[in-house]
Amino acid sequence: MNDCIFCKIANKEIPAKIEYEDDDMIAFHDLNPQAPIHLLFIPKKHIESLDKLNQEDSIVIGKIFFQISKLAQSLGLDESGYRVVNNMGADGGQTVYHIHFHLLGKRPLTWPPG
Ligand code: AMP
Ligand code: ZN
Repeated sequence: MNDCIFCKIANKEIPAKIEYEDDDMIAFHDLNPQAPIHLLFIPKKHIESLDKLNQEDSIVIGKIFFQISKLAQSLGLDESGYRVVNNMGADGGQTVYHIHFHLLGKRPLTWPPG
């Protein structure tokens, strides 16, 4: 997927402020943060969206959620709380079609979302 911006970040072809990386995933700061902490967690493998996830690849999503909780703890978000978001498709507000999870924290977040 050569013109996928998040594949390029995973392959280090374009820069990002990386907070965490392992064989399966990478976490980096959102370019346009919506909260004092706004990170994006992506699998290194290109998966278009939650809708396109197959059973085999679903294992990485559990790994991502585990690392989200670890990183949230290390950033001191565990006491104040935080939000994890996946936007799917047009109505969900997805703009980058490489599955990703937003970690937002360090401010109170309203509900329902816009
Ligand atoms: P979504 O609307 O859920 O698809 O989220 C895509 C997110 O990717 C948005 O919050 C953008 O600000 C963010 N984004 C787009 N390009 C980059 C980039 N090159 N580096 C970091 N974040 C990006
Ligand atoms: Zn991709």
